[in-house]
Amino acid sequence: MNRKIIVIGGVAGGASVAARLRRLDEDADIIVLERGDYISFANCGLPYYIGGVIKNRKRLIVQTVAEMQEKFRLDIRTKHEVLSIDRSRKTLIIKRLETDVTYEEAYDKLVISTGAAPVKPPIPGIKEAKNLFTLRTIPDTDAIHDYIATFHPATAAVVGGGFIGLEMAENLQNLGITVTIIEMADQVLTPIDPEMAVIVHRHLAAHGVDLILNDGVKAFEDEGRRIILASDRVVTADLILFAVGVRPENQLAKAAGLELGGRGGILTDANMRTNDPDVYAIGDAAEITDFVSGTKTMIALAGPANKQARIAANDICGVPDAYAGALGTAVVKVFDLTVASTGMNEKALKAAGLPYRALHTHPDSHADYYPGAETIAMKLLFHPETGAIYGAQAVGGEGGCKRIDVLATAIYAHLRVTDLKNLDLAYAPPYSSAKDPVNMLGFYGENLMSGLDETFQWHEIAGLAKEGAYFLDVREPYEFARGALPNAVNIPLGKLRSHLGELPRTKPIHVYCLSGVRSHSALRILVQNGFMAKNLDGGYATYKRLFKS
Ligand code: FAD
Repeated sequence: MNRKIIVIGGVAGGASVAARLRRLDEDADIIVLERGDYISFANCGLPYYIGGVIKNRKRLIVQTVAEMQEKFRLDIRTKHEVLSIDRSRKTLIIKRLETDVTYEEAYDKLVISTGAAPVKPPIPGIKEAKNLFTLRTIPDTDAIHDYIATFHPATAAVVGGGFIGLEMAENLQNLGITVTIIEMADQVLTPIDPEMAVIVHRHLAAHGVDLILNDGVKAFEDEGRRIILASDRVVTADLILFAVGVRPENQLAKAAGLELGGRGGILTDANMRTNDPDVYAIGDAAEITDFVSGTKTMIALAGPANKQARIAANDICGVPDAYAGALGTAVVKVFDLTVASTGMNEKALKAAGLPYRALHTHPDSHADYYPGAETIAMKLLFHPETGAIYGAQAVGGEGGCKRIDVLATAIYAHLRVTDLKNLDLAYAPPYSSAKDPVNMLGFYGENLMSGLDETFQWHEIAGLAKEGAYFLDVREPYEFARGALPNAVNIPLGKLRSHLGELPRTKPIHVYCLSGVRSHSALRILVQNGFMAKNLDGGYATYKRLFKS
């Protein structure tokens, strides 16, 4: 008898594992059970269909049931919901949703790829809100699409400033709907740090999105048309997109006695096995290892789900493989901004009590003399002694995603910050600079590690100002006139050598420019002339984002 492998869930992880299984085992009986109407659809494309960027709904279906069955000889059963798993008998109870009839099916190996469901807390009035939607499936998408086509909402509230919330905010705004984002935290997009998120906040405002931070929803009134916030502020909206996060679909696993992690995901090992060697878990439902910290984590992204699918199939078919863990590398488009990140951010490093150094740069996406160059704000975090890279963030124009991908590769390969200067990266003026922004991070990191540059951070400025620190601004007078640090003295870099006699020798000089590049040169002049000096990391550009309007 052929062995029987059952996959629960037929979208990102489920469809991938089934296809790989067939490629490795032509004889196995492979059954895919999916409770929805569709398999293998493009969750990630859903906001763009609603916004009209993707015009043809059919393009959202990556593979139809018929195509997949034909190509991979799979037994795909849509509208079949798995109700329970009996691990001792190795059987499932399945409900055929069209008829409500239940039946039993035995398995030799089981893969759970049930995904994650949008969180919907019991906020007063949420059930009565007729204009409130979550977004996960094609039917969810159709419901939002039809609602917009029928009722032509003029205003929308997006509750939650994560990836889905921001993608939806952009797509709704592009349809001419005025959007308010309501976010309980003090920033959107938690994978990036606050001084990076501020760029996104301003960009949203520039595109007419009203962003409310530090305020959660207390209640919905008038069938969802009035949203009462914790602060008692009232937001009115014709449509509500509720996107405050997801929770792993773990009910089946929990009831079957599979071990769950602290965050409710199904605990897995490096082969995606659960505590039952015949049961695997992958994708949004699985708890996996964080590549950088080595702790258990949950990452609801399509890339990890697909990689884990391959690893599970390999293990089932005896192909040696192991999951190294996930970095959580992610990118999101917010109107004209690209926001990308990989690895641990400063908030996570602080919370974990790990030693780190942060550096900020503002390179151009490509040679500034070639038209169309855009600034990218970059941040790198690394171990102060070993130079091991913890994570990176990029917010800005085109090219940020490419740099974060290079940095994700560097982290995966255990490169050190000083290795980044040696990477031989592609260059021509329309694409990059002879010193690519990633190389620049390496030069800067090396300067810090060797003690050639010493920095102070944007968040230390207020304290330093109180202590009467000496701030030296080496930008040009016209730049200085537009805004400067408290009581700063302006001596442009080109004139510094002839004004050294005016500078204090008894206390450190806190030197800065716009981005940290000119001030690094100034610091080198100062230090080599016997002064104590520190350079403002990320320059005035980073500081002013947070402290100037
Ligand atoms: P899913 O793809 O969600 O599949 C799980 C399936 O299991 C579902 O179809 C569900 O119906 C089925 N199921 C659950 N329980 C049962 C049961 N008991 N019986 C039968 N079937 C069951 N990720 C990115 O990396 N980049 C992006 O740009 C991105 N954009 C996104 C945009 C949106 C709007 C959404 C919703 C997600 C986005 N994601 C993105 C996340 C990505 O889609 C998920 O990480 C990925 O789909 C997870 O794969 P999965 O197999 O774990 O779960």
